[in-house]
Amino acid sequence: MAYDFDLFVIGAGSGGVRAARFAAGYGARVAVAESRYLGGTCVNVGCVPKKLLVYGAHYAEDIHEAKGYGWTIDGARFDWASLIANKDREIQRLNGIYKNLLTDSGVTLLEAHARLVDAHTVEVDGKHYSAEYILIATGGWPFVPDIPGREHAITSNEAFYLDALPRRVLVVGGGYIAVEFASIFHGCGADTKLLYRGELFLRGFDGSLRDHLKDELIKKGLDLQFNADITRIDKQADGTLLATLEEGRTLEADCIFYATGRRPMLDGLGLENVDVALDKRGYIAIDDQFRTTTPSILAIGDVIGRIQLTPVALAEGMAVARQLFRPEEYRPVDYQNIATAVFSLPNMATVGLTEEQAREKGHKVVLFESRFRPMKQTMTDSLERSLMKLVVDAETDKVLGCHMAGPEAGEIIQGLAVALKAGATKRIFDDTAGIHPTAAEEFVTMR
Ligand code: FAD
Ligand code: NDP
Repeated sequence: MAYDFDLFVIGAGSGGVRAARFAAGYGARVAVAESRYLGGTCVNVGCVPKKLLVYGAHYAEDIHEAKGYGWTIDGARFDWASLIANKDREIQRLNGIYKNLLTDSGVTLLEAHARLVDAHTVEVDGKHYSAEYILIATGGWPFVPDIPGREHAITSNEAFYLDALPRRVLVVGGGYIAVEFASIFHGCGADTKLLYRGELFLRGFDGSLRDHLKDELIKKGLDLQFNADITRIDKQADGTLLATLEEGRTLEADCIFYATGRRPMLDGLGLENVDVALDKRGYIAIDDQFRTTTPSILAIGDVIGRIQLTPVALAEGMAVARQLFRPEEYRPVDYQNIATAVFSLPNMATVGLTEEQAREKGHKVVLFESRFRPMKQTMTDSLERSLMKLVVDAETDKVLGCHMAGPEAGEIIQGLAVALKAGATKRIFDDTAGIHPTAAEEFVTMR
């Protein structure tokens, strides 16, 4: 049977755009439907605007520390509205680039909501389109626990568009978004408290780094409250918010920001019309070729809930395009040793196994740690310290994990991810000459 398209992609985010462009490049007839914003979460309300706000927040430290280098910066002031307006302009520019990327590759772009009709049909704006394959790449959406007054809370979606910097912010959660936004709000000058329900935030990261980052954030003046959870939020007559905590204690704030995880975006997707099963967690269930329980419908990215990072969605999009239209070049996605960074101030980045994971897997480990004051800080009154850590297998000498908290941790760990992928041993690290003077050289000089 002749279909309108070879591939119909629902969602023009990180994964969808990548799959669509490459499939079209391999000669497939491709359509993409996007209901909200081109480039998806990452470009509009995720990685990109977040990093721009982190850069903005870091200027507070830069300006303060410039004194040690002979600079007098009088009357420095910060204007949140300018930061947001400039960020919006940059995102608009990127939206245009994404549009061109798609249309220049010959992809048919439909800027509207898409709904599944059957195993080979999608409806957009009342019109039906048939396709041999349909790819669900609809991403995720912030989750806020169901507590009284949750409607007074905001999430990352809204934080990117706040008109003014709130004076007092409560950030709830202990994952990536909570820690990054706590750094953004605090750096920009808001009185910021981070409330996390557990003993220590950033569960799943290396224990030494979690402790180190906690100490660094406290030194910078962030109020971290662990074993703390909000049970209700009330809006007071003057518009301020009152959060009641489990133990009956209350906290007043002008903004309560929830970063308590994300859920797959399945709203209005028409799943009731097709046989597409969800897994136990509510994400779209797929096999090792990204096929759902209906083989003509595939799914990638945050909506399948594997590792919710842009480079992973990109790799999955690429794998689907190759598997369907260039099978001779197909390579499965490698989920091992995926490097990642938390863009807090300071940054924290990691690749490979944490000390705890290595021990759990039965490795006998040797640990190497370096704690130091970054050179740039030595002529300032900053108390910031960096931590670098290597987890090495005692028997094979293989480096199992590299972890860092400190300036540019993300930039440094990216290079080490290549070394880990290549199976580098500690001996190879030792035999590598450092670049002096850098912080990164510590990774090859730890003995
Ligand atoms: P998305 O990028 O979410 O794209 C899905 C698209 O589908 C959206 O544009 C949506 O509008 C559209 N859509 C949904 N339903 C429909 C429908 N029915 N019809 C038509 N269109 C539809 N990752 C990193 O690697 N580094 C970071 O620094 C980072 N920072 C982040 C910061 C924040 C605040 C957030 C929220 C996320 C961050 N992430 C980061 C995660 C990253 O953004 C996601 O993993 C990535 O965007 C997932 O890509 P995706 O293609 O699966 O989905
Ligand atoms: P995370 O899953 O990273 O963290 C969620 C946090 O919320 C955890 O600390 C969790 O606690 C807590 N939590 C969950 N449910 C509740 C609840 N009911 N009440 C109180 N606390 C709760 O999610 P994020 O929202 O921070 O980010 C979503 C994903 O987006 C990340 O996992 C990551 O994949 C991606 N991302 C990546 C970034 C990057 O690469 N730099 C930046 C931002 C996001 P507990 O640990 O106890 O379960």
